[in-house]
Amino acid sequence: MARVLDGVAIAAEIKADVGAEVRALKGEGVTPGLAVVLVGHVAASEVYVRSKVKACAELGIASWMLTPPESVTTEEMLAIVAELNARDEVDGILIQLPLPKHVDTRRLLEAVSPEKDVDGFHPVNVGRLQSGQAGLRPCTPAGIMEILRRSGLPVEGKNAVVLGRSEIVGKPVAMLLLNASATVTVCHSKTVEIARHTREAEILVAAIGRPGFVTEDMVRPGATLIDVGINRVTDAAEVARFFPGDAARAEQFAKKGSTLVGDIHPLAFAKAGAYTPVPGGVGALTIAMLMHNTVKAAKARRGAGTGVALGAVAGGS
Ligand code: NAP
Repeated sequence: MARVLDGVAIAAEIKADVGAEVRALKGEGVTPGLAVVLVGHVAASEVYVRSKVKACAELGIASWMLTPPESVTTEEMLAIVAELNARDEVDGILIQLPLPKHVDTRRLLEAVSPEKDVDGFHPVNVGRLQSGQAGLRPCTPAGIMEILRRSGLPVEGKNAVVLGRSEIVGKPVAMLLLNASATVTVCHSKTVEIARHTREAEILVAAIGRPGFVTEDMVRPGATLIDVGINRVTDAAEVARFFPGDAARAEQFAKKGSTLVGDIHPLAFAKAGAYTPVPGGVGALTIAMLMHNTVKAAKARRGAGTGVALGAVAGGS
């Protein structure tokens, strides 16, 4: 029986650790703070931002939500970022993506102070990750490392294959795995014969955004499967193909008209040693890791919390 790596339970553990850390920092007179900038009215972004602000409230982290209109210019956004960079009580700055097309996203992300870059997207933090220095790590990749670490799954010496080379998931998770001494192969859309690589993977991370792409024949028996993909499937025939005989899914689909499928075919999980489900796997970790990063930034910036141990998080040193 493959072991289910429960992202919701692991996220709760991380949040409990972060909450304890926040209480300790408050004892030193420091309240960690996160500013979230949400431009316009993208429904999905509004949902994400609300969840982030709610998580801050639960853990005692101060939060500010800035909501410039859709018409905001790059210059106006740069002014907002400059003000947040200057405010001492703001430890983390998160610019919710995607931004409207007329806003220069790259310029903005580079304007965020690297010390407050809780998304880990600033080139300085990318460089720190690449060179194995302490810094803020992107939340989803750091969450993947936490799943492995907290589940007692060793990385050192393992053959790890990452599908996808995006800046926010594929590349940083490959680098974190390499820094943790895995032997890492990265596959992408130009890779020839992907299955040849995936069949060798003791740890397989799939982050390509293609529902059910990794099929059973592509999986090494006993492998750890980390499914980052979040794909909404709305076609009944496809749902039946992914989840044959799964009454609960069929009922959920009938009610909502859609269901979520990862990049790994659900039938491939049976061949794994351990796997993250979709939903309830990697996706559950991202906000917990954002909270972790906010507290980490507060400690680093304000020289606080030297007596407490949050730094134990994988890839977080
Ligand atoms: P992305 O920026 O679209 O990148 C996709 C990557 O997959 C690219 O490197 C692309 O290769 C590769 N790719 C696409 N089709 C492929 C194929 N047929 N064979 C091999 N490689 C292929 O995606 P992303 O932002 O990394 O996200 C990937 C998935 O993870 C999505 O489903 C997304 O929703 C999910 N996600 C989840 C979380 C979370 O759980 N919190 C966070 C972020 C993303 P090229 O570089 O050659 O084009």
